[in-house]
Amino acid sequence: MTDATLVLVLNSGSSSVKYQLIDMADGSRPAAGLVERIGEPSFPADHAAAIGLIGAELREKGLGLDSPRIAAIGHRVVHGGRYFSRPALITDRVLDEVRRLVPLAPLHNPANITGIEITRALRPDLPQVAVFDTAFHATIPESAARYAIDTELADEYAIRRYGFHGTSHQYVSRHTAELLGRSPESVNVIVLHLGNGASASAVAGGVCVETSMGLTPLEGLVMGTRSGDLDPAVLLHLQRVAGMSVEEVDVLLNRRSGLKGLCGDNDMREVTRRMAEGDQRATLAFDVYIHRLRKYVGAYTAVLGRVDAIAFTAGVGENSAAVRAAAMANLDALGVELDPALNAVRSAEARLVSTESSRIAVAVVPTDEELEIAEQTFAVIRRTDE
Ligand code: AMP
Repeated sequence: MTDATLVLVLNSGSSSVKYQLIDMADGSRPAAGLVERIGEPSFPADHAAAIGLIGAELREKGLGLDSPRIAAIGHRVVHGGRYFSRPALITDRVLDEVRRLVPLAPLHNPANITGIEITRALRPDLPQVAVFDTAFHATIPESAARYAIDTELADEYAIRRYGFHGTSHQYVSRHTAELLGRSPESVNVIVLHLGNGASASAVAGGVCVETSMGLTPLEGLVMGTRSGDLDPAVLLHLQRVAGMSVEEVDVLLNRRSGLKGLCGDNDMREVTRRMAEGDQRATLAFDVYIHRLRKYVGAYTAVLGRVDAIAFTAGVGENSAAVRAAAMANLDALGVELDPALNAVRSAEARLVSTESSRIAVAVVPTDEELEIAEQTFAVIRRTDE
């Protein structure tokens, strides 16, 4: 087993499977790819076929699924409920527990489970680890995790704030501390994960104390197609007054809201391009997006008390200087001073974009969920080996 240093990271979604093979000995990635449109005509019929294709792609690189150099498979699992606060070595019991959580993530957990079942059947001898999107947020205190509704009802139906994108928030908060040359334990960070989905977190000394997503990934920031926060009575109003069904409201809030709902485009590149042409709907969409983001920065400043850094990550956070500039504008009173020249630089590296005199550092830290999953997976199997 000693020279088995490869971890295969699998992210099985409802219609796609993403994979990366990462060598923990040197950080190299001998293979990576995406099999998509599962179930569509002339694409893989099902997840088993998709993973078969991945096996074939790996074999072409001389590293098939049967390769003795693979030490473990790390699976991204979206919902770990209250049960999983850390990655778990997959056993029948763990898998049963993940199945029990399907009602909390009906779109995500079933696909994650299918991926696990297939690779377990193919390599029953290989350790497999589930890394949960919710786990990093398991430390948020009850005061932040509880919704102010009937306690018994909330407990009966497991209704509370779980948070998502945890692997990214964990990775980015740790690497922000590294960028500052300090230990994670000594640093308080606000992480802004702004991708197609978007979430913020407040991380105190490496421990997550608050995050913007809740029971599901719908709460919080304005996203590409999701509304984020709204008055819950909007749902009642849509059903009572607009005559919409539960399903219709679900689709509206998850797929036809956010930037898309506000201006018709969910891609921030398109929104800013239209803004530059003077498009008013795109400008309003941008303004709503930024306003919400700034509200969360203010709120999390109060939650943390002392903030050392604000870190931007994911597609929008890493690439949109316009979003960073608008989100950080006029925050001198909080101790935030963005450096416009540094902010305008395009780079794939982790970097600071604040002035030297800024009391709070502003950082751009590219996220790497696959690497985080591989590292956590490797750590679990090493612990098990001991
Ligand atoms: P992610 O979910 O992290 O892959 O982020 C995807 C989103 O990033 C896309 O929907 C785009 O809106 C956004 N994005 C990617 N590149 C850029 C860019 N150069 N400028 C602004 N937004 C970008």
